[in-house]
Amino acid sequence: MLYPLSILSILLLALIHLTNGHSPHGHSPKKVQRVLSTPDNASIPLSTRAYWMRKANAALGELASPCPFAAFGTVIVNHTDVSGDGLGKLICMGVNSRTTTGNPISHGEIAAINNCTQILTDVNGPYKLSGSSAIAAFASLSLYTNAESCPMCASAIRWSGFKEYIFGTTIETLVDQGWGQIDISSKEVFEESLGLGTATSYLGGILTNETDPYFAWQFDTDSPCPVGCERASAGSSCAAS
Ligand SMILES: [Zn+2]
Repeated sequence: MLYPLSILSILLLALIHLTNGHSPHGHSPKKVQRVLSTPDNASIPLSTRAYWMRKANAALGELASPCPFAAFGTVIVNHTDVSGDGLGKLICMGVNSRTTTGNPISHGEIAAINNCTQILTDVNGPYKLSGSSAIAAFASLSLYTNAESCPMCASAIRWSGFKEYIFGTTIETLVDQGWGQIDISSKEVFEESLGLGTATSYLGGILTNETDPYFAWQFDTDSPCPVGCERASAGSSCAAS
């Protein structure tokens, strides 16, 4: 005997099947390589990647605290600008600001994208771009985040059309350490975003020896604090030292 819930599940599955069948792409194999293109590592050395990943960590101290509970930091960089030291140009940064703003979706990546839009379109700022020009500019930019993006942020990165996406700590590590996550990797989101017609290079697991400690202490009172922070007493939260 089928329970009403089971019948509903079957109807839903049938509907999903029909919807897929009517999609223009049908069940064709995923063309992963078209989306997960190779980052430009020939001209951007690992030392430069590490430099900007450290800046993503440092954004926490600049915008919040060296060791906030939600220690998710992002920097957005223009590697096509090789003036100055040749490392690329910082356009903006952002950190998880849910509790400071009351905006539940203000993850580090979303905060940074919002900040960049504001900077790129500021009529008194250095760029003074129109809305459409600002949107086009994202195709030249690289987003560095100290932890792999959740599906919401990974989708936002793909909708933004970034040139590159570079992350440190993996979602797998976050889950192992006790962080609640929607269980869809950013790679999966990228693989499913072929229809956007843009490509964003994907580079993960950068400088994890330095990013992982930012996420290891919150649910493990024996874990050491990130650099610049300490526990006032055993079992207390990490705070700026
Ligand atoms: Zn997110």
